[in-house]
Amino acid sequence: MSGDLSQTNQLVDSFGRQVNYLRLSVTDRCNLRCTYCMAEEMTFLPKQQILSLEELRDVAAAFVALGVNKIRLTGGEPLIRQDILKLVGSLSRLSGLHELTMTSNGIMLPTMAQSLKEAGLSRINISIDSLRAERFKTLTRVGNLDQVLAGIQAATEAKFQRVKLNAVILAGFNDDEVLDLARFAIEREMDISFIEEMPLGEISSHQRATTQITSETIREQLSREFTLIDSAETTGGPSRYARVANTESKIGFISPLSNNFCSTCNRVRLTAEGRLLLCLGNEHSVDLRAVLRNYPGDSERLKETIVEAMDNKPERHYFDPEQVDIVRFMNMTGG
Ligand code: SAM
Ligand code: SF4
Repeated sequence: MSGDLSQTNQLVDSFGRQVNYLRLSVTDRCNLRCTYCMAEEMTFLPKQQILSLEELRDVAAAFVALGVNKIRLTGGEPLIRQDILKLVGSLSRLSGLHELTMTSNGIMLPTMAQSLKEAGLSRINISIDSLRAERFKTLTRVGNLDQVLAGIQAATEAKFQRVKLNAVILAGFNDDEVLDLARFAIEREMDISFIEEMPLGEISSHQRATTQITSETIREQLSREFTLIDSAETTGGPSRYARVANTESKIGFISPLSNNFCSTCNRVRLTAEGRLLLCLGNEHSVDLRAVLRNYPGDSERLKETIVEAMDNKPERHYFDPEQVDIVRFMNMTGG
């Protein structure tokens, strides 16, 4: 990664928003089955439909050449992608990329955190929705909380620039743990973001309309114990942050339902099979895999397709928890 600031951003949508952030999904598969993210029985993509490491690198290079300076690797679970360390290594060497980050469930971090840091990953977000082992297992269907706790510890020891926690809060499932999760982060001088559940994909475990809880309600809970000071800080993502007085931590609120953040949207997503999603809450996509495979090595054509796609970025999303407008699950989308 380099600090080449001379690069001009060619990715501007029809509403004047500059896109400088790519979320790159490297697999749709996962070693967990979080109830809000996946159905119990999932069909995953066959290997040949997934972008190869070379294709991922080429497409990332095209985005960076066009002005993207931050890439987040995601999935599915990015750490189960074979050769993920090689990919991190090659992306971290892209000139013009300032930040290479990842969102992970943490399960594989005890053995991989140090190597990821050495390969050039600068920050990591780790998802943890409960600190109670039984509940963690229920929410993830198969997960072992101790492995995630060990993963968080390993990430701390690997000394990433910042380790951040993410928690999706579901009313009736884990909304009584908001304070515990915040205390856990604060004790470790970490930031934590609380996320509203999005209606992506048809799930069987619960009715999404009944588990909705707004960021405002979560904030009220937190305010009973902590003094929250609104912060203008941003990490380039959709979190609105508040500093927790007398601590080193910030608390983020990601409110895709209650507080639309589309007007400042600076990101696009690439699914594991190479579909460029201009918006999380819309189905429209552009098939970059077709360009990569029909015109191998034609980086100009790839860049032209990406630039043209920006005209299709919608102004905003509309989520309705009562119904599933988006059939894609979050593991397909890349969180
Ligand atoms: N497996 C990794 C993980 O869990 O961190 C990365 C992929 S996951 C899809 C990325 C983030 O999306 C996680 O923080 C997860 O909790 C969140 N997520 C998944 N499904 C969601 C949904 N329906 N609504 C809101 N957030 C969701
Ligand atoms: Fe896997 Fe992440 Fe989805 Fe959970 S949220 S099932 S860990 S992809």
